Amino acid sequence: DREAKLQLVHRHIRAFPDFPRKGILFRDICPILKDPAALTAVTDLFEEHVRQNHPQVDLIVGLDARGFLFGPLLAQRLSIGFVLVRKKGKLPGPTLSVLYDLEYGKAEAEIQDDSVAPGQKILLIDDLLATGGTLYAACELMKKQQAEILGCMVIIELKELNGIEKLKPHNLFSLIQY
Ligand code: AMP
Repeated sequence: DREAKLQLVHRHIRAFPDFPRKGILFRDICPILKDPAALTAVTDLFEEHVRQNHPQVDLIVGLDARGFLFGPLLAQRLSIGFVLVRKKGKLPGPTLSVLYDLEYGKAEAEIQDDSVAPGQKILLIDDLLATGGTLYAACELMKKQQAEILGCMVIIELKELNGIEKLKPHNLFSLIQY
């Protein structure tokens, strides 16, 4: 059932203090990928959420890089497509990009300009929500494409950073909260 799946996922997340910098507690999802039962549980939980709340979704949009690990599995379950939001300079052909703030400095997120058609209904996915800056930038890209954003999904939400505020009015679905 749902509770057992959540516990399985929870047991496959490790914490590393002071990575990549002092003061950051890094939540590592690699053990999920190493265990097919845990990876299936993640996909099941996302699939259940989407079928119940967003059955009209057209595309899953995944964020560089760990959104790429979970997004395509979910999209395939739903028999819909998957689109990549990448760090700047990785995608060929015409692209759109947005600049956004990181904790230190700036970054740029990019999509291929034919990746989403106006009016398509999309859900964004990443492994973790911290400040929300990355998912917010991806939402901005989707708005530029005139996509209809149904919501954002992550495995882990770091509540104290209040990223959920930054994403408003878009809703966030998370499997696990710290
Ligand atoms: P943010 O833009 O602040 O929400 O940061 C989200 C991005 O940074 C995600 O793509 C995460 O993979 C990564 N990230 C931020 N903080 C952590 C953390 N404490 N542990 C693991 N990944 C993190």
